[in-house]
Amino acid sequence: MLPLVALVGRPNVGKSTLFNALTRSRDALVHDAPGVTRDRNYGVCRLDPERPFVLVDTGGIAGQEEGLAGATAKQSRAAAEEADLVLFVVDGREGASALDDAILAWLRKRDRPVLLVVNKIDGIDVQTALNDFARYGFRDRIGVSSSHRTGLDALLADVLARL
Ligand code: GDP
Ligand code: MG
Repeated sequence: MLPLVALVGRPNVGKSTLFNALTRSRDALVHDAPGVTRDRNYGVCRLDPERPFVLVDTGGIAGQEEGLAGATAKQSRAAAEEADLVLFVVDGREGASALDDAILAWLRKRDRPVLLVVNKIDGIDVQTALNDFARYGFRDRIGVSSSHRTGLDALLADVLARL
């Protein structure tokens, strides 16, 4: 069995873009369970061909608990529960938000290692963006730009070091 890594974060931080960048999506396995409106998307990251791992892209984890948003949140939580490692993805342009705080609080109740990934660092001051998340207390804050494929090697190294 390949290790499982889950992308978790609020909507629009760039989880799906990062998922595509890491899996290059063409050879990604996408499971669509019938009857599930927003299924989790699974793909295999083979950027290091020696050490592939399964990546799961989730919807938003917190917020409304009713209807579609609630179902999506449930799926996200289930993915985070079964993952060997969670990548907590945040938006380096917008900075830390109350929803990020809530998601992280939930993640910390789980017994799973979490890496902080600060996305969208293209065209902005990286250190300022990373500093905004200092209060979350992560030893490492990894800055990436999923759309520009910046920082993915460093992210990959950190992920593999923890699997
Ligand atoms: P998700 O809701 O977390 O899955 O976020 P998406 O992957 O759908 O991305 C949300 C928006 O952010 C889209 O318009 C993306 O093009 C944009 N986006 C994603 N990654 C980056 C990035 O690294 N830099 C910039 N500037 N925009 C990004
Ligand atoms: Mg998405």
